[in-house]
Amino acid sequence: MERITFQFQDDKGNLFGNWKLEIGNLIFMSIIIFTIGLFFGSFLNSFIWRYRKNILETIWTDRSICPHCGHVLSANDLVPLFSFLVLGGKCRYCKQPISWQYPLVELFFALLTWLIYWKFGLEVTFVYYLVIGFLLTALLVIDVWDGILPNGLIVISMFFWFLYMIVSRAHYYDWTNMVAAALLGFGFFTAIWLITLGKGMGVGDIKLALLLGLLAGVPSIYYIVFFSFILGAIYVLPLLFLGKTKWKNPIPFGPFMILAYFLMLFLGTEIQLAFLRIF
Ligand SMILES: [Zn+2]
Repeated sequence: MERITFQFQDDKGNLFGNWKLEIGNLIFMSIIIFTIGLFFGSFLNSFIWRYRKNILETIWTDRSICPHCGHVLSANDLVPLFSFLVLGGKCRYCKQPISWQYPLVELFFALLTWLIYWKFGLEVTFVYYLVIGFLLTALLVIDVWDGILPNGLIVISMFFWFLYMIVSRAHYYDWTNMVAAALLGFGFFTAIWLITLGKGMGVGDIKLALLLGLLAGVPSIYYIVFFSFILGAIYVLPLLFLGKTKWKNPIPFGPFMILAYFLMLFLGTEIQLAFLRIF
């Protein structure tokens, strides 16, 4: 009788040995990557706070302080997620509430870091998307608080895109494709801006569309525009319905564009296939 061989048999004859090893490795790496992502998220919070206060140059020199009482925070107060939970969301020294931005951004960026690892592995691409993810999340949070998309962060993102295109020796096709997408995004939001006489969109949204076009290319930019309006509607329609906001109240649109970009980054292939099947 012929011996049955298993696909997952290792060289010592242990069945499913490799399979167990691979799952074990994936879980181990995921925990490490997620934890690193939490600490990057904590640094991102500090970056955002200093950017909004216009004191970014202090990020490597000055310790973090409580924005209410000014007390210098110790290492115990700065452990991502855990400090917020242990302190019950309040400053240890003045008992004033800590913004929900802190745990949310830490969790969001840890998840983003893990997704980048899952999608791209630990290549140069991982570092590139980590930097882009960092800058886009900063833009998202600053737009939520202040309703602006700072030029500085958009220009730095474009610089990293350019650097990555050089390092990865991008093909002529990719350059033209991405520049075309940037012009399409730019053109579309400029048209809305002109038609609504500057009330429907901010100038910041036009610049962000230019950046996202460069990062995503064609056809992703079409989907990003589409999903940004869908996400915006999901957010604003219940508020309008409940009378919590009015049509004329401006809401920042940048966060929806950035979330749509992340959606296409991780699920773009699946979404495009689904669309092709439907239409
Ligand atoms: Zn305090």
